[in-house]
Amino acid sequence: MNAIHKPELGAAAKLFLAKAPKMLIDGKWVDAISGETFPVEDPSTEEVITHVPAGNKLDVDRAVEAARRALESGPWGRLSPGDRSKLIWRLGDLLEKHVDEFAEIESLDNGKPVANARRDDVPGAVSMFHYMAGWPQRLSGETLPVSSPGDWHAYTLREPVGVVGQIIPWNFPLGMLAWKVAPALAAGCTIVLKPAEQTPLTALRFGELVQEAGIPDGVVNIVTGYGETAGAALAEHPDVNKVAFTGSTEVGKRIVRAAAGNLKRVSLELGGKSPAIVFPDANLDLAIAGTANAIFYNQGQTCTAASRLFAHRSIYDQVVEGVSVAASKVKIGHGLDPTVNFGPLVSREQHQRVSGFLDSSRSEGAEVVTGGNVIGTRGYFVEPTVLAQTNRDMRVVREEIFGPVVCVQSFDDDDLEAVARFANDTEYGLSASVWTQDLRVAHLMARKIKAGTVCINTHNYADPAWPFGGSKQSGWGREMGKEVMESYTELKSIAARL
Ligand code: ADP
Repeated sequence: MNAIHKPELGAAAKLFLAKAPKMLIDGKWVDAISGETFPVEDPSTEEVITHVPAGNKLDVDRAVEAARRALESGPWGRLSPGDRSKLIWRLGDLLEKHVDEFAEIESLDNGKPVANARRDDVPGAVSMFHYMAGWPQRLSGETLPVSSPGDWHAYTLREPVGVVGQIIPWNFPLGMLAWKVAPALAAGCTIVLKPAEQTPLTALRFGELVQEAGIPDGVVNIVTGYGETAGAALAEHPDVNKVAFTGSTEVGKRIVRAAAGNLKRVSLELGGKSPAIVFPDANLDLAIAGTANAIFYNQGQTCTAASRLFAHRSIYDQVVEGVSVAASKVKIGHGLDPTVNFGPLVSREQHQRVSGFLDSSRSEGAEVVTGGNVIGTRGYFVEPTVLAQTNRDMRVVREEIFGPVVCVQSFDDDDLEAVARFANDTEYGLSASVWTQDLRVAHLMARKIKAGTVCINTHNYADPAWPFGGSKQSGWGREMGKEVMESYTELKSIAARL
């Protein structure tokens, strides 16, 4: 890779970054009470882009109070479902209007290729707000045919769960914001959102749209800060009714413990070590391009990344070669370069973590078919890497790397149970893909795989109507679809003696 060239930002993104970013609490832009800030870095160059407030427990307390007031006594709770719907739709429209600006800020902050942010991240967030805008008028209870003696009118109501704390990661900062904020608003909740410390910028720009859309003050509060301070304070706050978290399994377990104090509701979308299984009859062009994209997209920093690739023995060599060729063809560079399709990892910490896994793959005897190295001395770049001759005992096969590293293994047993045992040999259960043209094999495998989502002839699929989440140590609950609405509401049962 040549020296990193950093393209110019557009005028709108420049204007946003020229401001001193503040947090949004109770409709006001504020500094942290402590006055402290932390730097936000461009991972392609390691330059500091700006500083944002380092919110801590005191700021979280202030934000939770504002969210509680907005829930209990503000105009939000009195809005009709139709009016709530309009506001959420408007947020989607506003994001759509500023798609280029959001794509640039996201790319600069996270390192991801601006072309991907422009095509996937921002439009995905737009469609999430538009889809969720349909829910306020559809959230309903039921009348219940009770049999108790006498005359009864028994029914259920779905009510907002209350004040929700939302803690999101850095891999899809705006996307994860939309997955969390849109359904919570649709349910009528109020929110304290904590973006990841590595990538707070699109969340703060989104806060401006919240105001422009006319969402009442205190309904959406955004506190920037570190996980151990602001995040932990939100997870354990006694006046937060639900915490929704996306991030590592390790922190997910901490969130559960912190939430126990007031038994707040918890939903978790955690790590994965997702298998992609290529059967001999698969359309190999499609399967090779698809499984390569499934691991290298977003530099492998995707919770569903297909990091374990199983190829049938009869096509194993072709698959290894095809995915390696795809890896060697990516264009690596500054995320803001519109021709780049592979940027840096998000941070120094992540860079060190992935390079540690690359070292361990060698010491454990994996064959590095392509890649395997960090790139350059500035920016957090690593090569897309294909490891062959891997087995279940290696760290690279067992642990989530969260980087562009795929471990290829072969299978030669045509018994689907045995194939599924391979796929299920992990503590995670987030996602999987099956590549075959045989419908019977595809659907039988989909049943046998222990994961919250299974894709057939595709991977990393998402849609607002498609419930998403993990089994085993990949999480609790589902995002999107009608299931997410259930997770942001409490069911109240009412019995009236007539
Ligand atoms: P990663 O390890 O990939 O950075 P994390 O799970 O650490 O992912 O981070 C995801 C989100 O969780 C971030 O917003 C981070 O600030 C937050 N976080 C980290 N530690 C804690 C914690 N102890 N309590 C609450 N939130 C946390």
